[in-house]
Amino acid sequence: MEIPKFLIERYKFWKENTFKDYKDIYQQASKTPQKPIAMIITCCDSRILENSIFGGSVGDYFIHRNIANIVPSKNDKGQNIQTLSAIEYALKVLKIQNLIILGHSNCGGVEYSYKSLLDKKNINDFEYINQWVSCLQKSYNNIPNDFSETEKITFLEQENIKQSIKNLCKYEFVDKLINKNKLNVIGLWYQIDSGLIKILDKNNTFIDLD
Ligand SMILES: [Zn+2]
Repeated sequence: MEIPKFLIERYKFWKENTFKDYKDIYQQASKTPQKPIAMIITCCDSRILENSIFGGSVGDYFIHRNIANIVPSKNDKGQNIQTLSAIEYALKVLKIQNLIILGHSNCGGVEYSYKSLLDKKNINDFEYINQWVSCLQKSYNNIPNDFSETEKITFLEQENIKQSIKNLCKYEFVDKLINKNKLNVIGLWYQIDSGLIKILDKNNTFIDLD
């Protein structure tokens, strides 16, 4: 096994620059347990730089990534263990009070889910992904018929965030914290090309964050 040259070069640059600049913060962080200000559940997509968007420093954000930033429902048996383990740790152990679900535009996972639910002919021979993206079935069912394909996919990206929040609230330990006002759940949708972020408001509608 050979480590790619770009990794070594980038690591060296980080060690000599970024790490040096933040050395005190790193050393302090190693002496105390982590105390993140929010948990962010987002997509595996390499274009989502959540720490950059929200000015994250060492220890600020507890991150969980999966394909299409899905929180599976209780009924999606066997599919929710990884994501729910991360959420359970964040809420029960780290006692994080802000949980963000950060979806995004141009989401390959959502697009594939849309296409595979639209027509079985579009289903690829994946070993795991097909089962995972089938979690979006409920959101898919809500897509308005009169939308263009692009609008339908954007709708599904945003509907998936709404449904993930609904799914999340059905887990008892999450629901308890929300009812005690100890947990704030936030739905965000990020547009890659413009940098725009939309937030899910109290009327369950996405509005511009700024
Ligand atoms: Zn994505």
